[in-house]
Amino acid sequence: MMEIQRRTSRPVWVGKVQVGGDAPIVVQSMTNTSTADVQATVRQINELADLGCEIARVAVPDRHAAAALPDIVRHSPVPVVADIHYDYRLALAALKAGVHGLRLNPGNIRDPEKVRIVVRLARERGVPIRVGVNEGSLPPLPPLADGEMPPPKWQRMVDAALWEVRILEEMGFDQIKVSLKAFDVPTTIAAYREIARQTPYALHIGITEAGTLRSGSIRNAVGIGLLLAEGIGDTIRVSVSADPKEEIPIAYDILRALNLRQRGPTIVACPTCGRIEVDLIPLALRVEEHFQKLGQPITVAVMGCVVNGPGEAREADIGIAAGKGKGAIFRSGQVVRVVDEADYLSALVEEGQKVIAEKASG
Ligand code: SF4
Repeated sequence: MMEIQRRTSRPVWVGKVQVGGDAPIVVQSMTNTSTADVQATVRQINELADLGCEIARVAVPDRHAAAALPDIVRHSPVPVVADIHYDYRLALAALKAGVHGLRLNPGNIRDPEKVRIVVRLARERGVPIRVGVNEGSLPPLPPLADGEMPPPKWQRMVDAALWEVRILEEMGFDQIKVSLKAFDVPTTIAAYREIARQTPYALHIGITEAGTLRSGSIRNAVGIGLLLAEGIGDTIRVSVSADPKEEIPIAYDILRALNLRQRGPTIVACPTCGRIEVDLIPLALRVEEHFQKLGQPITVAVMGCVVNGPGEAREADIGIAAGKGKGAIFRSGQVVRVVDEADYLSALVEEGQKVIAEKASG
């Protein structure tokens, strides 16, 4: 398995979770409940955490949301980041409530003195700040000289981030993460490449307003995936217009595809073709469902014939080269048994359980 060489970033701690440095890439998400509703928000954070979400961000649009933060922080199983726009006083309230991280938007908190007030309290409380730029809320362009072209969007995003980063740096504050999210994938990539070149900070990467479940997943996978493949990115948030619970498996699938992290099973399944003689797709889905429930890292290959089947099955922890009537079950490259078609699923489950038990015992 080939490993991606990651950019070395300066680590920060969001509560108990390290982001950057030698930490694995952290998966995070954002709630879409009303933050003022403590019960609904904590319930959603718990659901996200069960799926593998490691940091939860909550919007803090007003003082009612800020007032709910102490209870949310107290009951959340994962560190909580407060998402702040416009009003620095909400950031102060969030810090006093005990949040583990802040996201500030340099596009709409433009007064350096207000930023400094927040930084002072964040430092006192040991809370990192994400400088979170979004292409939809960039600071206004300064007046252009006659004939001068405006800078490209990615450059404006980088400039907006650096404006705030410099304020933090001047105060000796280095618990910094940066994000530069756009809908447009090439713009996002250009912005992150530049900030990765110019600063040592941990990068939170994502694509904003990416779209509905299918198209948004692909946009996220391409944008986040390309950056991760270049070694850029310390924490990711997939965003799709769907239940936030959808985001977490997509995030892990992106990380898994790049050999960066594995949570739960990796299912290798052939796309099927005219050679197929078994009903493979339902089998692959049932295998996936079974091993996903177990939540253990295991690679299972479900292949439809002897052309690529044995090759792929050999690479996996367990696999099947399924033929008409009979199929060969592989374990770590060796055929361990030949089973009848009716027993394909149960044989894979049985062998899988043995592998999981062996991995668990070291
Ligand atoms: Fe076709 Fe066999 Fe390849 Fe599946 S493994 S796609 S059935 S050739």
